[in-house]
Amino acid sequence: MTDRRSFIRKSIGVGVTLPFLSPSIAGAESIFSTSKAEGPLIMCSRGTGWGERVLAPAQEIMKNGGALLDAIEKAANVTELDPDDMSVGYGGLPDEDGVVTLDASFMDGKTHNCGSVAAIERIKTPSSVARLVMERTDHIYLVGEGAFRFARAHGFPEENLLTDRARKVWLRWKENSSDKDDWLPPEDGDYGLEKRPTGTINILGFDANGDLAGCTTTSGLFGKIKGRIGDSPIIGAGLYVDNEVGAAGATGRGEEVIRMCGSFYVVANMRAGMSPQQACEAACKKIIDINGGAANVNFNDKFVALSKSGEVGCAQIMGNDKRLPHLSYWAPEKGFQVASGSYLIET
Ligand code: ASP
Repeated sequence: MTDRRSFIRKSIGVGVTLPFLSPSIAGAESIFSTSKAEGPLIMCSRGTGWGERVLAPAQEIMKNGGALLDAIEKAANVTELDPDDMSVGYGGLPDEDGVVTLDASFMDGKTHNCGSVAAIERIKTPSSVARLVMERTDHIYLVGEGAFRFARAHGFPEENLLTDRARKVWLRWKENSSDKDDWLPPEDGDYGLEKRPTGTINILGFDANGDLAGCTTTSGLFGKIKGRIGDSPIIGAGLYVDNEVGAAGATGRGEEVIRMCGSFYVVANMRAGMSPQQACEAACKKIIDINGGAANVNFNDKFVALSKSGEVGCAQIMGNDKRLPHLSYWAPEKGFQVASGSYLIET
């Protein structure tokens, strides 16, 4: 284990260049690193305004010597329970039928166990259910009605997830999405949103022993076909943790992340010697390449990563809002910090 850590550090130190990377990507530095590799360290894929709020319960748990999995779960629950976050949990934007369906995954590096729920309805905290799939079943994926029944068996209340705000956004979208159906928009015809919104949250961390874990949770793509699941619940796509190396998570257009096993790709590149920042940028570049170049990419994907040695990285193809940083983290020695990733495509 020590060898692996020092291997990664040494590789970064000598600026290792992998042959399939462009010079600019290979030369990228990690956004920041902790002064020492010992944890705990918890990060999330949200920046200013969100990060502090999301990480607050995790900080509290870790400061009091609590378990990493509890810290990550409680951090994920913050966005899931917030009706104002329209991309995760309660208040999330619905599918094309106006039904909120949620995806989430959990992975524990120490045991290399994982659990996921996909297309689950009427349960506000899918990350907690995903953790229970990991810990209390011999399965990895539960979907739809089966996931719901499993949650109910564990005492989760059945609740309405569609807020009035989300319903109105959906209704405007429905009324404006075709001129061949019988839905008519109101006179102002306003779509209500500038573009089809996206969003998800990744929480990654390691504890004082250096054991890693992670969680990804989302309401998925707004207006999706009923039954669609994205990358978030797919182990290796929306989330991957390797206790010897690091952890990674993805947000954005899930179909692209699934077809290049995004989070696994990031961690595999870290195992090969890249810093988390280099690995996140390499994943963005891979998606651009798969699509035949930047000219064909009009969507966003974002990766965040954490190495076992305490480095953090974040990159996205195009920013939803370039003014905002897109990653925050907390570690006892450095406190709360925010950083933005780099963009491969300038829009
Ligand atoms: N990755 C999510 C999905 O495709 C959505 C998002 O992050 O915006 O379901």
